[in-house]
Amino acid sequence: MRPEILFPLFAETRSLPGVGPRIGKAIERLAGPRLVDLLWHLPNGVIDRRFSPQIANAPDKAIVTVAVEIDRHVLPSSRRVPYRVVCHDGTGALDLVFFNARREYLETVLPVGERRVVSGRVERWRDRLQMTHPDHIGRPGELDAFKRVEPVYPLTAGLTAKPLARMVAEAVGRAPELPEWNDSAWMARKSWPGWREAVRLAHAPQDQASLDPYHPARERLAYDELLANQLALALVRRRRRARPGRRIAGDGVLRRRARETLGFALTAAQEAAVAEIAADMAAPECMIRLLQGDVGSGKTVVAFLAMLAAVETGAQAALMAPTEVLARQHFATIEPLARAIDVPMSLLTGRERGGNRGRILAGLAGGATALAIGTHALQQNAVAFADLALAVIDEQHRFGVDQRVALAEKGRAVDMLVMTATPIPRTLTMTAYGDIDVSRLHEKPPGRHPVDTRVLPVDRLSEVIGRLRRAIDGGARIYWVCPVVEESETLDLAAATERHAALETLFGDRVGLLHGRMKGADKDAAMARFADGEIDILVATTVIEVGVDVAEASVVVVEHAERFGLAQLHQLRGRVGRGERASFCLLLYGGPLTETARARLNVMRETDDGFLIAEEDLRLRGSGELLGTRQSGLPEFRLADLALHAGLIEVARDDARLIVERDADLATPRGAALRTLLYLFERDAVVRTARSG
Ligand code: ADP
Ligand code: MG
Repeated sequence: MRPEILFPLFAETRSLPGVGPRIGKAIERLAGPRLVDLLWHLPNGVIDRRFSPQIANAPDKAIVTVAVEIDRHVLPSSRRVPYRVVCHDGTGALDLVFFNARREYLETVLPVGERRVVSGRVERWRDRLQMTHPDHIGRPGELDAFKRVEPVYPLTAGLTAKPLARMVAEAVGRAPELPEWNDSAWMARKSWPGWREAVRLAHAPQDQASLDPYHPARERLAYDELLANQLALALVRRRRRARPGRRIAGDGVLRRRARETLGFALTAAQEAAVAEIAADMAAPECMIRLLQGDVGSGKTVVAFLAMLAAVETGAQAALMAPTEVLARQHFATIEPLARAIDVPMSLLTGRERGGNRGRILAGLAGGATALAIGTHALQQNAVAFADLALAVIDEQHRFGVDQRVALAEKGRAVDMLVMTATPIPRTLTMTAYGDIDVSRLHEKPPGRHPVDTRVLPVDRLSEVIGRLRRAIDGGARIYWVCPVVEESETLDLAAATERHAALETLFGDRVGLLHGRMKGADKDAAMARFADGEIDILVATTVIEVGVDVAEASVVVVEHAERFGLAQLHQLRGRVGRGERASFCLLLYGGPLTETARARLNVMRETDDGFLIAEEDLRLRGSGELLGTRQSGLPEFRLADLALHAGLIEVARDDARLIVERDADLATPRGAALRTLLYLFERDAVVRTARSG
């Protein structure tokens, strides 16, 4: 149960006075649905309103707060002319200027003959001083209240600065004093304020320097977030480690036969990974290992051999993929290999239904089926295994920690192998998985050609079309990728559909379309037509990003490449260059490029080393600038910046490790405070499940 002290922070934003459905929705989109989300919405600027000159001395473009007397209202003579309210102080005149003004409103807030205080930016216009749309208008007594340094918050459509600032201030005001969860020596060394004071200070920046990520208040909050993350992961890990494991050491017969049917020799990196995994499985503890490798580095084969190790002991193994397409593809790769050595195997996704599904479930529950491949359908309640010993989770950072655990729960002392094709940097690995053992596939299988990568503006489209024609004449198949993000999904989909139509007029009916809103069966059909060569060009949104494998595809065109993150571009490029054919990747960008976008595209042109690209990705990551960081499934941090606070992540990891060693039940006073921390950052699932299970 969430500690009572946190209740006020988890109240809905919509419950605040003055928040109607419209503003409530906008706030939810921007920050989140609850007050605590507003606390995490930190200012990204300051406005200094302390300057209060006489009107005659007010410099052009300055932000000023001044007391004035209102002389008269000048109504606009036409719709294009603004409404003016003429005022003065003892030294000169000031015009307050309003566009699209409502007369009754202005007459109420700025009555003629009365004194008012206004704050905003002034401009000299001809010989007059004017202030367009004052930020604040108040009574004379409010002068001192207006003269302060005001935080500026990131905004969203449908939400203006004032109501947002008011809501955030309200949330900050309701923040309770919380018990200190940080180590006191560490606190003293960093000279950090307590939690509540840190929240207050972070929302009351006094100057530009207080916005710095290393400012004590901000740094403390970032550390809290990282500690919650690391502690939750450490608790999960500890819980798994504390369980009795089992030794899975088969006789090697199936693995030997499988290697014979492969038709190629494993790379040195694959051999090393296979050996590390086999050693973990043979050890008495539960394995939790991450298999990291670029697209095409051969992870599937490594996973298959690990699964066979389990089957050799009479147990079962399961592989869970994040999407239907991927699950089917893994099945298509592995099933022939399994069949060749007589290992029974089945596929389970949301689409296996009725009698077929019943037969699959019976095979798994009875033990007749040794290997299962599927989507999250695998961890539904109805699914039981006779003896699951190994869970392989592909691209698991798309699954929550809970889902990972749910599959492992279907067996006794299940070993876990997590595969990811996103070669994420060390710091990110830590935030996604905590302290996990890692095997990395650094090299690619022999015979791969590097992908020729070009970056060009979209207005050179006719050149691109020419290249594509030549490629198609030579038998190439082409991915054409369009970005789709949640925030502008409808527009993006329309753009993709439009591109599909445009390419159809150029290339006839050998152009297909694949996007996330299509039905599963239609997606498969589009994919299958592309794989079979019935179509030459597949216009796709990022659903093809993860692991899809069509060996004949040798060209990938990415439209609006500037909107993609480096890791995603790298993944997309990895879709080609798998076969014999020379491959190329065309990164098309629209409009002028930001410096970061240009840097990202340059990295793509210069290297295809996934690990290097991942480090650059993190370094270049502008806050919120990237497309699809949300979709990436990596944990999102509101306060910590993974590039800037990398050092803190390591401290948090060590801190969490010590806490779990000394006080795994969080029973000490510091432990109780840490429990509050976990609830505050909603990493409490581990606490709850740890107690019940
Ligand atoms: P990943 O899952 O890491 O993207 P896969 O395991 O799907 O990569 O391997 C990509 C392709 O390379 C597959 O067709 C696979 O059969 C092949 N492959 C894997 N390992 C080797 C190897 N050592 N030598 C040659 N081909 C390999
Ligand atoms: Mg694969």
